Amino acid sequence: MEKIKIGWVGLGNMGIPMARNLINKGFPVCVYNRTKEKEKELLNLGASAADSLQQLSQISDIIITMVSDDAAVEEIYNSNTGLLTDPSANILMIDMSTVGVQTSKKLAMNCNNKSVHFLEAKVSGSVKPAEEGKLLIMAGGEIADYQKAQPVLETLGNPIFYLGDVGKASAAKLCINYFLALTLEGLAETVLFAQKLDINTKDMLKVINESGCASGITKIKAEPILKNDFAPAFALKHITKDLRLAQKEGLAFPLFPPLLASFQDASQTGYGEKDVMSIISFLDETVSDKRF
Ligand code: NAP
Repeated sequence: MEKIKIGWVGLGNMGIPMARNLINKGFPVCVYNRTKEKEKELLNLGASAADSLQQLSQISDIIITMVSDDAAVEEIYNSNTGLLTDPSANILMIDMSTVGVQTSKKLAMNCNNKSVHFLEAKVSGSVKPAEEGKLLIMAGGEIADYQKAQPVLETLGNPIFYLGDVGKASAAKLCINYFLALTLEGLAETVLFAQKLDINTKDMLKVINESGCASGITKIKAEPILKNDFAPAFALKHITKDLRLAQKEGLAFPLFPPLLASFQDASQTGYGEKDVMSIISFLDETVSDKRF
């Protein structure tokens, strides 16, 4: 059976390992990234490169977009050199970027107007699960499109949840990232509090991670905290964007305003390009002394 031809847009921290998994699985993958330099690694693995988004939309069966934010997605799909300029018949486009619920619904409508099938497939999990093909995937759209995408999605992640119409997966993604932000802020504050009480950080992280408060994220972030190494797996600017998107959807619980302010302030004071866990350095430098 002929392999599904994949067009891949967006080779950032997540896009590179995800596209690599598809290549390794034997899918023919054609990549397009704004910064061409980042295409090299995948070209060396056997991918081809498209000169333009239009070209990509004419040679692919399925296009996956994995880019920064709503503005990037808007440009890639809707600009006059974008994916929807002159797409081939029956093509399926899947957006895996974290964007707002309304943006996903608008994309679905724009695709629909061009007779393009559209699926949202949002991911939870960072670079390591992406490398291992173990991202948690939340999908929304027509069930037939979901079924067509399954062999591709199964290469990128597990488990996969089909949540219903377009918009549902984007909404669920904003919910889980609210929980993620609460957890990161909580972990950072707890470790800093423990330091103030003169508890060895390594010991405290062991206590946390052997306790009922442990989670995948508290375990993954223990080493970066100990090494003070916040090279971006998930850039802090992106979770700040996700909190703003959640705010747009009406999130207003008591912890939300200070949580948003914390990540927003960190983003604006030089932590945006660092990993989300660098919130601990921001709090350490700017807040903790004032609160004890
Ligand atoms: P990233 O490393 O910042 O990469 C962003 C990608 O988007 C790059 O390829 C960038 O191109 C491209 N891009 C940005 N603006 C563009 C534009 N206007 N036109 C064309 N391309 C544009 O981001 P990431 O960490 O891979 O995350 C990608 C998405 O997944 C985000 O929505 C993020 O919130 C979400 N997400 C991330 C994680 C994670 O742990 N990292 C986990 C779950 C979900 P250039 O290379 O040219 O800059």
